[in-house]
Amino acid sequence: MRAEALIDLAALRGNIAALRDRVGSAGIMSVVKADAYGHGAVPCARAALAAGAGWLGTATPEEALALRAAGIGPQDARMLCWLWTPGSPWRETVAADIDISVSGLWALPHVLDAVRAVGRPARVQLKADTGLGRNGAQPAEWSALVAAARAAEAEGLISVTGVWSHFACADEPGHPSIAAQLTAYREALAVAEAAGLRPEVRHIANSPATLTLPESHFDLVRAGLAQYGLSPVPEIGSPADFGLRPVMSLVARIAQVKQVPGGHGVSYGHTYVTPGETTLALVPLGYADGIPRHASGAGPVWLADKWRTVAGRVAMDQFVVDLGGDAAEVGDVAVLFGSGERGEPTAEDWARAAGTISYEIVTRIGARVPRRYLGGDD
Ligand SMILES: *Cc1c(COP(=O)(O)O)cnc(C)c1O
Repeated sequence: MRAEALIDLAALRGNIAALRDRVGSAGIMSVVKADAYGHGAVPCARAALAAGAGWLGTATPEEALALRAAGIGPQDARMLCWLWTPGSPWRETVAADIDISVSGLWALPHVLDAVRAVGRPARVQLKADTGLGRNGAQPAEWSALVAAARAAEAEGLISVTGVWSHFACADEPGHPSIAAQLTAYREALAVAEAAGLRPEVRHIANSPATLTLPESHFDLVRAGLAQYGLSPVPEIGSPADFGLRPVMSLVARIAQVKQVPGGHGVSYGHTYVTPGETTLALVPLGYADGIPRHASGAGPVWLADKWRTVAGRVAMDQFVVDLGGDAAEVGDVAVLFGSGERGEPTAEDWARAAGTISYEIVTRIGARVPRRYLGGDD
């Protein structure tokens, strides 16, 4: 093993249980887009379902279809995917009984073509842009979209199973856009209701709203980051404060240990120069593995019983740490991040070192790093 990402499925199940306690009668959609934020979509989806999530959410239809292909059937999980383009696999998605998010009038003809080709009605969820300004229908288009969807429903071509939206600033509790979006969402729901739509699920909450805004829970919450045990609001609470435990740990075996004299430049650009004679350890992970180059000179590593800091630049495949006077051996295990429960850094620590968010740290861990699953129940 050069390096591996350990994925604690027991922690993931515990996180889903903690979220269920928090949301009461609302359901949980486990968001497993982007290979479950780098954790592995199929094992994480199965663990989330085993812990009581009823829905799976993905960005692309291809991601949702891969879950169906892996054997997660409609009796196991409802699925929703929300990022569509004209060339998307509309027919396959209808055939696989996966809910299609429709963000504008442009998409309905694609759905109806697929329905006619496949010969079964589509499950459609209408997405309102309540202020995020990303996908979703603007208020000016909403009434027409609702009317067109209701007409297709009356013809038996589709079933409108959801009306939903997404927050822009739920990670900043008290931000004025949050209340404004909730009001806009309630208005969008009222328009849909008045037009005769009776969606099974109404949902707007992502992880930060799930943790901080109970009035946003409606019928379903869409939990991504929180189920992976990371805090979407690190300034407000740690994972433990929310009853969550980090799921991914990233470890690597030291590939070289050597003595170097003082004044020795380290890694590209010599941005680090040894302050005196010292021991350098080589960690065989780099930006090709998702270690942010922005964490050069800053990223933390647990090695030889202490926190160390990346010395110099992170390269494509490797980086160096300066052990000072301490000893280590080739083959020793360095922990880049883990739960933090044994003193090691966390993904949040790396996010801070790289000037980003923990979402990006775990999601970008590359395909060259094998995932090993712990705590599976089969
Ligand atoms: C990614 C995503 C989520 C999950 O967000 P988290 O903050 O990770 O919980 C929910 N809804 C949509 C539309 C998303 O794109």
